[in-house]
Amino acid sequence: MTCLKPKFLYLFFICLLTVEVLAQSDKKKALFVIVDGISAEQLRKVATPSLDAISKAGGFTKAYVGGEKKTYSQTPTISAVGYNSLLTGTWVNKHNVWDNDIKDPNYHYWTIFRFFQEAYPAKRTAVFSTWLDNRTKLIGTGLAQTNKLQMHYSFDGFELDTLNFPHDKEAGYIHKIDEKVVDEAARYISDEAPDLSWVYLEYTDDMGHKYGNSEQFNKAIGYMDVQMGRLWKAIQYREKNFGEDWQIFITTDHGRGEPEGQNHGGQSDGERSTWIVTNAKGLNSYFQGKAGSGSVPGIVDIMPTIARHLQIPIKHEQKLELDGAALTGKLSVLWPTAKKNNDKIAISWKSVEKDGSVKIWLSTTNKFEEGGSDRYLLMKEVPVTNENAVLDIAKLPKGFYKIVIEGKYNTVNKWIVE
Ligand SMILES: [Zn+2]
Repeated sequence: MTCLKPKFLYLFFICLLTVEVLAQSDKKKALFVIVDGISAEQLRKVATPSLDAISKAGGFTKAYVGGEKKTYSQTPTISAVGYNSLLTGTWVNKHNVWDNDIKDPNYHYWTIFRFFQEAYPAKRTAVFSTWLDNRTKLIGTGLAQTNKLQMHYSFDGFELDTLNFPHDKEAGYIHKIDEKVVDEAARYISDEAPDLSWVYLEYTDDMGHKYGNSEQFNKAIGYMDVQMGRLWKAIQYREKNFGEDWQIFITTDHGRGEPEGQNHGGQSDGERSTWIVTNAKGLNSYFQGKAGSGSVPGIVDIMPTIARHLQIPIKHEQKLELDGAALTGKLSVLWPTAKKNNDKIAISWKSVEKDGSVKIWLSTTNKFEEGGSDRYLLMKEVPVTNENAVLDIAKLPKGFYKIVIEGKYNTVNKWIVE
């Protein structure tokens, strides 16, 4: 009888393990969906069996947009501004998209598509959208500033086709385009299973603007739910037949001014309050509202969560800029505060996982926003459970302080702008 020598057996086993790990990461897929302008308040009033089914596999949470109110990161509750906060995981003080004109996005804050493609050029990305600018301006396909980023597949721009979609005052054509976009997204996901994709639908916001909180708006939310059901079905088909591991996020870009529900853009509770539905596994205490402080997740938290799922590497200096925290898995720190008093800055944070220490970094420059590098000083290293520290800044330049608290599992940041 012949037999492999133990050493060869061992190598063979390692080899098998490696193949297994690679195969698994290739099966991880993500889809995020933005359905425009559906306030948390109004969503509650409409039956949404598809969203309920997806939430049952993962979860539902109320969420927010708009950055931190009355501070340097306060962010208009306007559509493209919200989309870009999701794409980049940062607020408007960084990504610089202030309204729907999208005049001068700061592409130094990469979108999730840029991170993904730089790390995995062979993996496939797709966008299905009722608004062309999402691809050409926010993702920035083909631009020098995005390293000529390309999507592998795009299905958009139909709002410019007035021949096939004549524009009517009731925005019925937008509903038709949403339907077309969803049909193609569901087909493409079923057949091609892109690794990372974005679906954007607009009709709900049109009905909100036109009719406010009304039967018409509720009906549009009902259409949206049926559309989400079609995407969910495509994902389940892939999971069942191809053993893929899909993460879907569905959210909205802003709420609406209450009680009328027609407008948005400002900082009222109704305009800032949104929601997130996901099938994600391993949702953490932050998502579940059990991490303390009572705060809900923000739209900027979706990007780092998808990055975790797809195992997208993010370089250290880019990680220090992220304003969101993952909604799955372990976290070290949340909710930083920083208060300057003469030559001291008092820092606080909330510790989530209790292991490890935090490094507290400080930079008095913001060269990152121009594509440069900041020189961070390591000011302190203390156990994460301390939840506060005092920094001596007597010898540092004055006026601007970019502070980062780096824990074992995530980082958070806070600016002081004088
Ligand atoms: Zn919107």
